[in-house]
Parts: sequence; C-alpha cells; structure tokens
Amino acid sequence: MQRILIVGGGAGGLELATRLGNTLGKQKLAHITLLDQNRVHVWKPLLHEVVAGSFDTGMESLSYRAHSADNHYDFRLGRLASIDQDRQKVVLEPQFDHHGKQILESRQISYDYLVIAVGSQCNDFGISGVKEHCFRLDSAPEAEDLHLTFLNRFLQFSEAQAGQLGSSNQPVHIAIVGGGATGVELAAELYNAVDRFEQVGIRKIHHQSLRVTLVEATDRILPVLPAEIALKAQKTLFKQGVDVLTNVQVKAIEENCLVTQQAEGEQRINADILVWAAGVKAPEFLNKLGLPTNRINQLVCQQSLLVQGCSNIFALGDCASIMGANERPVPATAQAASQQAKLCGDNLIACIDENRRALKPFVYHDHGTLVSLSRFQTLGNLLDDLFHKNWFIEGKIAHWAYISLYRQHQHALHGGFKTLIMMLASSIQKRIKPKLKLY
Ligand SMILES: Cc1cc2nc3c(=O)[nH]c(=O)nc-3n(C[C@H](O)[C@H](O)[C@H](O)COP(=O)(O)OP(=O)(O)OC[C@H]3O[C@@H](n4cnc5c(N)ncnc54)[C@H](O)[C@@H]3O)c2cc1C
Repeated sequence: MQRILIVGGGAGGLELATRLGNTLGKQKLAHITLLDQNRVHVWKPLLHEVVAGSFDTGMESLSYRAHSADNHYDFRLGRLASIDQDRQKVVLEPQFDHHGKQILESRQISYDYLVIAVGSQCNDFGISGVKEHCFRLDSAPEAEDLHLTFLNRFLQFSEAQAGQLGSSNQPVHIAIVGGGATGVELAAELYNAVDRFEQVGIRKIHHQSLRVTLVEATDRILPVLPAEIALKAQKTLFKQGVDVLTNVQVKAIEENCLVTQQAEGEQRINADILVWAAGVKAPEFLNKLGLPTNRINQLVCQQSLLVQGCSNIFALGDCASIMGANERPVPATAQAASQQAKLCGDNLIACIDENRRALKPFVYHDHGTLVSLSRFQTLGNLLDDLFHKNWFIEGKIAHWAYISLYRQHQHALHGGFKTLIMMLASSIQKRIKPKLKLY
C-alpha cells in the first residue's frame, strides 16, 4: 500500500489529511499519516481572539489523535527535522516533554508521497530585539501566553486604581507593530475584552483603561484592501481609541520600547506590552531540506504543487511559493491553503490511481478579504467570479461571511451534521458561560 505522509496539520494540512483519510485511507488504497508538533489544532485566524479571551482553546481545539481515529488516518506527534529523499524517509527531532526532559529519541517515518504544510511564522526582517521583547501570534501557546500577560497587567492596573498598590495607574499601553489584518483585528479585539472586564465587575476598569498604538511602516493600514475600506476601518479603530501611526519604521526593539524612524527623526514609543505582527515568512529549517526555497524560506512549487525538481514531494499553504494570476504569488491566507489542500488531494488521488492520471494545475480563486473589528465592525470586499465584480460589504452580512470561513474549515474537518451540532453547542455555551475567558 502506498504511504502518504503530511507534515503540518494546520488550515491546509489537516483538511487534506481528513479528505485523504476518508477516501484513500478508508478504501485501504493508501496509508495516510499526519505529523504535527502539537497535540491539538486551533485554526490560526482565531488567534487574536485567543489573546483577548473571546475564543476558548480549551473548548474549541481539536485533538489530532481523536480526529484521526474517526477519519481513517494515523497521527504522529513530532517535529520534522530533515528529509532523506533517496531513502524516502523523514527524520524527526527528539521529543521533549513540558519540563524539557527528552521522552523520545529521533525517529524516522517512511513515505512514498510527502506533503509539507508547516505554515509560516512572523518575519522580524532582521530587526534587533523582536525575539527577545515582542509577543508574536505564531501559535496557540504564544497567543495564550499573551492572553495571560494581558490579564496580569490589568490585574496590576485594577489594584493600583483601587489604591491597593503603588504601581502606575496610567492606562495599560499595548503597541502593535504591523497594520495588516492581524494587527488591526487584535487592536479592536483588545478593546472589546476591556469592555467585558468592566461588565464582569473587575474593579475600576473601563474602555479608557487601555491604550493601543498601531504602528505601520507604509502610508496606510490594511494594504490588501481598497483604500476606502481601509480608511473606514481606521476610523472605527480611532473611535475606539487606537492611535494609528503610519509611515513609521521600527528600527529596533528594546525592553518595553519601540525605537522608530519618523519624519521628525528617531522616536521612542514606550509601552507595557509589545506585539509583533508585521509580515510572515516560512520556517528557517526549510532551507536545510535540500529543496528549492525563495528569500522568505518558502518551498518553490510547480503549479501542480509538486516542489520544483521533485516527483513525490508536494507543498502547500503559507510555506509554499506558488504563482497565481498575473504572475503574482498566491497570498499566505487560510483561504489559499484550503484551496491548495483540495487540489493537492485531487493530485495525490491521481498519483495513486493505477493509470496515474495527469496532475491538475492550481488556480487560485480570490473570494475577497474580510476584516473583523470585533463587535465594533466587520468589513471587506467579496470578489464575485460570476459577474467579475468587487462587492464592498460591512455590518451583519460581512460578519456572517467572516464567520463562514471558519465554518467551512469545520465542515471540511467534521462534515455538515457535526458542524451544525458544534454551532448549536457554541451558541449555548455563549449563553451559559462568561463572554470572556478570564484565566
Ligand atoms: C491572527 C491571525 C489572523 C489571520 N486571519 C486570517 C483571515 O482572516 N483569513 C485568512 O484567510 N487567513 C488569515 N490568517 C492567515 C492564516 O492563518 C494562514 O494563512 C493559514 O493558517 C496557513 O495555513 P497552513 O496550513 O499553511 O499553516 P498553519 O495553519 O499555520 O499550520 C501549520 C501547521 O504545521 C505545524 N508545524 C510547523 N512546523 C512543524 C514541524 N517542523 N514539524 C511538524 N509540524 C510542524 C504547526 O504546528 C501547524 O499545525 C491569519 C493569521 C493569523 C496569525
């Protein structure tokens, strides 16, 4: 039986494993294995909600092990370290427990077809101090870490306000670097969280207890959206209290301080918490696999999603460089990763077919971009393939369309009936549990 190994169970890799498990795996035409460094999956576009506490990973995350048992694939916990292409094996790093004690030695997994879907991480563009002093939203544990820091900072603030402590009673200041969707959505979600603190009776906290500065190097936020939509989003942020600084280059990061270059010269922005959300790159280790990579470490792929020069290694999602229409690279989004997972599944099924059918090329369908400014506003554009039109949407319709992207992901993983039950369960939870995770 042919062995298909998928490395990375994120927005793209997990959808692919589920589909291949329920087709080739179930019919015993291939053995499907998913490898991930984590035990649970949290859909990455929701990480800013994890930070604010409006999304509870404890309740909403998916256990790979349990999911694999229901969907006819095998799950292996571990981190990809290298590939032996001649012997068709991947080598895993030794496995450590949460105390840093080694629990498993380096292992190997054999494959006939390999899919690399390891996603991306923040790009610090070589700026000093980012790793040491900034929070990043690369994974659920990092988002949880920032969530706890945010809660603790407000605990100090509330005690200072009540006169219990001598610490500063200045508003909690959070500086976010990067005016793309991640930075913008996080800024709005943090204000939503502070309003909820007030509702659950945390002492002396109100909307003005938070100050957010959003720093963007170019002349406007949300560069992927038309200028008028970005302006609307900026107005909404401004109304909530976000200070949006454009044309500001961050030169270096120090403890609790952004050192910036502005028209007036070098400036320092001091803040209690610093968050880096300025662009992404693929993980560094991809450069050491002996496969072609580009300047942001992405694996260079043909249109079939086969890595250039390979006949049995595919790549997809944020870690893959694939050309879209007009010779422009396909963007690193969950939308693109999901479409690539579908095409990669078709091509793997074609490879396994005894008559080895021809592989199909990937064609990216951009359905638009939506940005959620928490409960304050949702807005964006929808691109319509049928009429070739670009629709601006906002408010309830936009919010519904935004949520539907997550529902589509759940549908790909659990099918229609279970997704419906999950929607019901989550709406019941919202009624019986606090609106914010406070731990
Ligand atoms: C805060 C935030 C908001 C976003 N909002 C949106 C949005 O609204 N719309 C949208 O389309 N996109 C959005 N994105 C982007 C989207 O999340 C990514 O484009 C998408 O998740 C990429 O999918 P992927 O499968 O390539 O990688 P990921 O979903 O990142 O999955 C990669 C997987 O690989 C695993 N992995 C990594 N390295 C290894 C290794 N060495 N060995 C084993 N496993 C490994 C990881 O644990 C992870 O499970 C957002 C991202 C963030 C951070």
